[in-house]
Amino acid sequence: MQISIQKTTKPKPKPDQDNLGFGRYFSDHMFIMDYDAEKGWHSPRITPYEPLQLDPATAAFHYGQAIFEGLKAYRAADNRILLFRPEKNMERINITNNRMCIPPIDVDFCLEALKTLVSIDQDWVPTAPGTSLYIRPFIFATDPYLGLRPSSSFKFMIILSPVGAYYPQGINPISIYVESEYTRAVKGGTGFAKTSGNYAASMKAQAKAAEKGFVQVLWLDGIEKKYIEEVGAMNVFFKINDEIITPALEGSILPGITRDSVIQLLKHWGMNVCERRVSMQELYDVYQARALKEAFGTGTAAVISPIGELNWNGMSIKIGQGEIGEVSLKVYDTLTGIQTGRFDDIFNWTLEVESAFK
Ligand SMILES: *Cc1c(COP(=O)(O)O)cnc(C)c1O
Repeated sequence: MQISIQKTTKPKPKPDQDNLGFGRYFSDHMFIMDYDAEKGWHSPRITPYEPLQLDPATAAFHYGQAIFEGLKAYRAADNRILLFRPEKNMERINITNNRMCIPPIDVDFCLEALKTLVSIDQDWVPTAPGTSLYIRPFIFATDPYLGLRPSSSFKFMIILSPVGAYYPQGINPISIYVESEYTRAVKGGTGFAKTSGNYAASMKAQAKAAEKGFVQVLWLDGIEKKYIEEVGAMNVFFKINDEIITPALEGSILPGITRDSVIQLLKHWGMNVCERRVSMQELYDVYQARALKEAFGTGTAAVISPIGELNWNGMSIKIGQGEIGEVSLKVYDTLTGIQTGRFDDIFNWTLEVESAFK
């Protein structure tokens, strides 16, 4: 398939790099392609960034047959543009699509489309320290039909948003509310898939936590409300004595690419990493025995987010006295170092975007 390219005649002014925030500004172009049963995925094109016109009966609006991904392009000191394990995001789209009755994409083709789009909008990859270009691929059902059935037509799109440093004032540990009432996901559901409805369903708990003064929610398993699953859009790790523990992927947890990278790094350093079930009670017990040394979340947005406090049914678990832990910091420095080309890419995780389309 050939990607047709229509460049904008009205490039937008670039936003102030010191005030980017997250997901508020969008680049000059977008990628879009269509699916129907007859032609499969077809008509791939890069066009000026613009609003869509959609039928009010568009299936995704009504039944949520929609999915997304999130990854970043980083500006290296030598001006190269690096993507971090982008093939993993494209592969995860197909895992999500399969669960949501959306036809699979061609991973290599979509990776090529992504690289072409970023190359065309390369001036939108910000240069200030800690900033990046957030990449949002997404797919939604477009049949103009109110019957409940898998759609037979879809759109796949990629949009780009320059985003600010996650830690403009240095890394501060966050306070997290352990959610014992609402459920995010259960085995057999869609927890392992990056489907839009998961996030709509989590907002109530997020709002409740925010009202109580917490930044994020820690989800427990939906059946016994005992075992730790993950944070809003981050997987979690705990350092208990000298062992690093993260909840095992059992169908209800999103398999994060940052999570996988952290596990590989820790193993490479010869550390003891274990994927298993961890209950809140166990965590509380090891905390009381002074064995809970560090806790952190992992995800594309923050890379590593140290956890300074967990509030569980009114009991407060305090970790690290307001400071980021030693292992958390080493993982953060190494991952961001690889992502921005400061460190040797010994795992072959980065992919350079060529500037051929300038
Ligand atoms: C996206 C996401 C993550 C993190 O995944 P990464 O691939 O590391 O960005 C973790 N949990 C949830 C629920 C997510 O949506």
